Amino acid sequence: MAENRNNKAGLYVISGPSGVGKSTITREVIRRCEDVYLSVSATTRPKSEQEVHGRDYWFISREEFEHGIEQGRFLEWAEVYGNLYGTPRDKVEQRLEHGGNVLLEIDVQGGRQIKQARPDAVLIFIMPPSPEQLAERMYKRGRDEKEVASVRLGGAEKEIEQAKGWYDKWVVNDDLEKAINEVIDIVHS
Ligand code: 5GP
Repeated sequence: MAENRNNKAGLYVISGPSGVGKSTITREVIRRCEDVYLSVSATTRPKSEQEVHGRDYWFISREEFEHGIEQGRFLEWAEVYGNLYGTPRDKVEQRLEHGGNVLLEIDVQGGRQIKQARPDAVLIFIMPPSPEQLAERMYKRGRDEKEVASVRLGGAEKEIEQAKGWYDKWVVNDDLEKAINEVIDIVHS
């Protein structure tokens, strides 16, 4: 059932290691909460077959991305595994001005930039139940080559370390439904 509550608008960030299930959680939060808008990031990463331009990401060239940086078009941006990722500023600011809640699914470097620019933003970190389970999920997902997956796994611990002291809420995804509800409660509290 869709939930819609008239709370104060806010900016929320969801981060977590690759493969932790944060995209699934984010998708469900958006589906269940009509008052939450998901920001679509821009990236220079190649599009996978399942992904759709404008839905999953705005897939753009590095040149176009760098031009966007110069023009101040990103609220935050970061280089992740050799590709650039950024949050388009205009749509997020418009939504916030009109009293909407905005959710960003971005990495920790981006989350920290958001916190510095907007200290009232709520940063949520999704934790894996264990490193072993995270590795298993990443290989099963099969989107990455094995080498890429192992680089990403190595990045998980680093990301958790970088999040400490910055992130406000820590949600362990040991049970998907529970994790989704925890995030919804944070957004609506
Ligand atoms: P993926 O390639 O798996 O979709 O994303 C790789 C990483 O980039 C994930 O941790 C994801 O959260 C992060 N990411 C996606 N969009 C953005 C963005 O706009 N800004 C930042 N800083 N990170 C992003």
